[in-house]
Amino acid sequence: MVFNVSHFQQAADYPLGIIVQIQDISDRKKIEASLLHTAYHDALISLPNRVYFREQLAKAIARVKRNPSTQFAVMFLDFDRFKSVNDSLGHSAGDQLLIGFSKRIQAALRPTDMVARLGGDEFAVLVEDVQLGDNALELATGLQEMSREPFQTGDTEITSSASIGICYSAPRHETPDDVIRDAVSAMYKAKAAGKAQHAVFDLSPHGRASADLQLENELRHAIALGELRLHYQPQHRFGDRSLYGYEALIRWAHPKRGLLYPATFLALAEETGLIFPIGKWVITEACQEMKRWREAGHQQGDMLHMSVNISSREFNQPNFVPFVISTLTDAQIPASLLTIELTESAFMDGTQGGVAALSALRAAGIKISIDDFGTGYSSLSYLATLPIDSLKTDHSFVNKMTETAEAKEIVRAIATLGRALGKSIFAEGVETEAQWRTLLELGCDYGQGNLCSPAISADEITQRISTSRIIRLAP
Ligand code: C2E
Ligand code: MG
Ligand code: MG
Repeated sequence: MVFNVSHFQQAADYPLGIIVQIQDISDRKKIEASLLHTAYHDALISLPNRVYFREQLAKAIARVKRNPSTQFAVMFLDFDRFKSVNDSLGHSAGDQLLIGFSKRIQAALRPTDMVARLGGDEFAVLVEDVQLGDNALELATGLQEMSREPFQTGDTEITSSASIGICYSAPRHETPDDVIRDAVSAMYKAKAAGKAQHAVFDLSPHGRASADLQLENELRHAIALGELRLHYQPQHRFGDRSLYGYEALIRWAHPKRGLLYPATFLALAEETGLIFPIGKWVITEACQEMKRWREAGHQQGDMLHMSVNISSREFNQPNFVPFVISTLTDAQIPASLLTIELTESAFMDGTQGGVAALSALRAAGIKISIDDFGTGYSSLSYLATLPIDSLKTDHSFVNKMTETAEAKEIVRAIATLGRALGKSIFAEGVETEAQWRTLLELGCDYGQGNLCSPAISADEITQRISTSRIIRLAP
């Protein structure tokens, strides 16, 4: 309801009369709202349309530019045999399929996610704040399962499937169309790989080889199928060679290819975002294993340390710190027994937010170590500001140390620098007695390598625990 009041004047100083206009605009508001709905929604299935999706995507791009430690993903979804449904069963059956599917998607999304119909049989999902263990890939798998479940139209049951292209936000994305283009390109890759699959957009000129796509699909299921393993390499004190703890190193017991090492699959995991659920699994499993060893009466008992490796993508996740702390709490492990290892280059890739996360972990008592130290390009002044407890010299220096004077001098320089900054020094890849003696001389604190033991399975360690208990209990 609107009141319009106008003065009706004849002479300059006083009004002759007042006209009051009363108008009911509720109908107009309704029409405006309805026009807005039509402009932003798809007529058939009442989902947001392309116009609305692009607007929301533009906002998401702006948010990520303001706060680069956050990330979103866009999934572009296309039905695999939609044309044949339309051709063989008629358009109304096709419409029923789209309506049924849109209902299923809406029910599966979090309130912060958004789905839109971009046209024809194409849908797009905007997943805001892609986070640790809660990422677009899991959702994509869920959507695919939903698309495969039969749809009922009248007496007919339609079975279909969808191909999904996933694109994570990246600094190169300036406009919504940049993101949609990349997601569409990934969707075509998924179709080319045999349909009913999902693929993540890859920047390399020709995209990844199909072998990689196959590996990606297998890796996606490796956690659920229990194919991932942690092997543990003992770490010893240089002084008396007593056991300090273990470094957890990931392996994949591939059903056809045997035991795979991280060099085969970690880069792919990082590129595709699978590193989030994998990293979560690694931390949980390492802590739980530690708990089991403590309970089984491991000789080192309460003083057993555990190191886990994490990638820069992981520690830049907003949820990372609370996740690590709650995992330790669940396993009843004191924070001071866990070391997070990050490579020197991961430190250099890290954001301000990521470095703040490391400070928060350290404040909680968790130790931070720079892995493969000496292979990156961190400046000495930057190093002094980092929230770290130890440096781990790269095995390439240890390896060449007894052959070339330069390698030995590099290790000496690292040890001197570390001590001056109050950090502990780890050496990895120690293979010979000569290397061990030199590292001891140079002042390293902890060492690991094939000389003492390669990484071994949890079962083997459990076995050793029970053997050592038997020995200790023997009269
Ligand atoms: P890293 O953390 O520097 O681990 C040391 C690597 O050296 C391990 O390789 C280990 O098996 C190997 N090694 C140990 N002793 C010797 C030795 O005496 N001689 C030689 N030549 N090599 C030795 P691995 O297990 O293949 O791991 C490679 C890298 O993959 C690791 O390097 C680490 O950066 C990464 N990685 C392993 N597990 C994980 C994980 O759970 N998460 C993440 N993000 N990265 C991981
Ligand atoms: Mg390491
Ligand atoms: Mg290393």
